[in-house]
Amino acid sequence: MAKIQMKMPIVEMDGDEMTRILWKDIKDILLLPYIDLKTEYYDLGLPNRDATGDTVTVESALATKKYGVAVKCATITPNVQRMSEYNLHEMWKSPNGTIRRILDGTVFRAPIVVEGIRSYVPTWTKPIVLARHAYGDVYAAVDEKVASGSKAFLVIEDKEGKEISRRLVHDFNGTTGVVQGMHNCDDSIRSFAHTCFRYALEEKLPMIFATKDTISKVYDGRFKQIFEEVFEEYKDAFEKAGIWYLYTLIDDAVARVVRSEGGLLWACKNYDGDVMSDMVATAYGSLGMMTSVLVSPDGKYEYEAAHGTVTRHYYKHLKGEETSTNSVATIFAWTGALKKRGEMDGLGDLVAFAEKLERATIRTIEEGEMTGDLVPLFHREGVTPKKLNSKEFLLAIASRL
Ligand code: NAP
Ligand code: MG
Repeated sequence: MAKIQMKMPIVEMDGDEMTRILWKDIKDILLLPYIDLKTEYYDLGLPNRDATGDTVTVESALATKKYGVAVKCATITPNVQRMSEYNLHEMWKSPNGTIRRILDGTVFRAPIVVEGIRSYVPTWTKPIVLARHAYGDVYAAVDEKVASGSKAFLVIEDKEGKEISRRLVHDFNGTTGVVQGMHNCDDSIRSFAHTCFRYALEEKLPMIFATKDTISKVYDGRFKQIFEEVFEEYKDAFEKAGIWYLYTLIDDAVARVVRSEGGLLWACKNYDGDVMSDMVATAYGSLGMMTSVLVSPDGKYEYEAAHGTVTRHYYKHLKGEETSTNSVATIFAWTGALKKRGEMDGLGDLVAFAEKLERATIRTIEEGEMTGDLVPLFHREGVTPKKLNSKEFLLAIASRL
């Protein structure tokens, strides 16, 4: 066949350790033979981030703003131990954090559902996509210990510094304690709402948003109100697409989601998203089957796997031992980016290729060929799961593709 042509490039962000090995193999085995792949390459591997003073991360995010579509390999977020392991000049910040700040985006996490790999919640036969509002609340709070006999107040000053309200939080009469102040911004909540509604429409998923506005009347009430206002703009489109939007209390949302068959978008406040995304990811089985996309309010997309660089497997690989690392989430990061690039540029054959690659990947597992993490989770009548090594798995997909 003639290679599929692209118009605009995808921003390619390379990464670290085992996922960097998979990255090259995925390209060599599954993409380059079929696509005249156009990417703008940024090496976000830790050695290059260190060599460039981390400017490469900022440049890759700016390129994503320019071109609209990026695909990212997992990267190391340095800690004390990595400082000496990589002989770093500085403990560089998390690349994902840097990219998210520049794109002001929302992260949507979605599991890849395969027949034979059952969720821990048996009714969840379709993916639950979770969106986390990654700004403010307790993650940007100030807190203090309070001595016995002290009083804590919530004080608001106007821009001239004039006090306009002072409310007692608590009188610590006869006991020590703690106090915390947190905030959120209307602009951030509003852009989160827009991004969620738009994603729901694009993916044709009904959507739930929940807070605790019965208790937190003003704070959570503001979230509820802004979502209500923003939804007015999407109401007709939702109706046309045959999907619904439900606002409810977080307790009720948890109950509804657990009883559902999946197939919905769950928009969460920052803390709820932190906790619930781990719950949902665990319930669907393996980290290797969870994808993630960062979507900015102005419609820029960065696709990646939700897992890290799989360090333990990389150290085995360095010792020359065989690895069986799941590449599905990274493959789906590529197919997500290729599909989006194809949609934006009107390239039907690029979209079709990405869909075929996804189907070939899913079929490979459904027919019993998979990486080691999936073997104990796989139950399908008449199919005995076979463990393949990292490369054999990619070749098994290629043979079906
Ligand atoms: P991890 O790389 O996600 O791996 C944790 C464990 O989960 C692995 O040891 C493995 O379990 C299993 N696992 C994860 N992905 C797998 C896959 N694709 N196939 C098979 N098994 C998989 O998390 P980590 O070890 O805590 O973090 C390693 C590095 O990744 C850290 O430097 C961290 O900073 C970075 N990180 C990056 C991102 C990102 O770029 N988005 C996200 C998270 C972490 P077994 O060992 O039992 O096989
Ligand atoms: Mg968490």
